[in-house]
Amino acid sequence: MQVFFSSRYTFELPADHPFPIYKYQQCADYLVEQGLISKEQLIDPGLASLEDLLLVHTQNYVEKIMTGRLTSTEIRKIGFPWSEKLVERSRAAAAGSIEAAKAALKAGRAANIAGGTHHAFADHGSGYCLFNDVAIAVKCLHKAEPQLKVQIVDLDAHQGNGTSAIFADDERVYTLSMHVGGNYPRDKFPSSLDIALERSCSGQDYLLKLKDALQTSLKKFQPDLLVYLAGADVHKDDRFGQMNLSTEEMLVRDKFVLETAKEKKLPFAIVLGGGYNKDKSLTARLHAQTIAAALSI
Ligand SMILES: [Zn+2]
Repeated sequence: MQVFFSSRYTFELPADHPFPIYKYQQCADYLVEQGLISKEQLIDPGLASLEDLLLVHTQNYVEKIMTGRLTSTEIRKIGFPWSEKLVERSRAAAAGSIEAAKAALKAGRAANIAGGTHHAFADHGSGYCLFNDVAIAVKCLHKAEPQLKVQIVDLDAHQGNGTSAIFADDERVYTLSMHVGGNYPRDKFPSSLDIALERSCSGQDYLLKLKDALQTSLKKFQPDLLVYLAGADVHKDDRFGQMNLSTEEMLVRDKFVLETAKEKKLPFAIVLGGGYNKDKSLTARLHAQTIAAALSI
């Protein structure tokens, strides 16, 4: 399985910033240390081109990001201080998702140890998301294969509002989002299928609802590719997720999604999504658990 990773994914943030920026490097390191993947297997995807970014984002927004001309309100909404490294990192993460989606179509499965920035809209960013990497990846695939049907399975604890808005009128893309109904973002945008859960619903209840939603939607939509946004913020000890899954239940979740795709001979690409555990090293291990599950099935 091709796994995309760049040292650019991690960049310098102020020490008191709540975003666990080191989780990308830690996740890659953990996979290597555990012998699940060799260092040589981690492929640097490079940077998404301007042309790639403009498949989804408006010229005005992309120019403002590239030149650091975002307003203070726009920067506050994104949640990261602007820097050249931030731009580079966001382009690298988008490139990782583009390459993972292409590799998945060729080889059946692939992963990006970043991505899932689903709160980025065409003309603005929010919630730690500048560019919508999954939307960019899907639009890249559509350039070569316009009829390709893609299902995005967004299991981050927060609703995938940016992605759902970008693909609202695109019948080739099915957006499934399972999230806490009362949590961020306030400005939710309807997905093809939204499963809005109560705060702290039980892992068993979560898994039952997921099973039903995934099986029903796959049967109905019949995609050619599944993109799995495997947010780790559904863990019971996450700072922002408001969900209640144990580490073991998260593994059951990952295996269920990936094995379902495998049984249907449906190619899948994995991106990480959010994860802000109180135990900082656990965030990286939860993400690594998803990649390990994909390597093992
Ligand atoms: Zn999230």
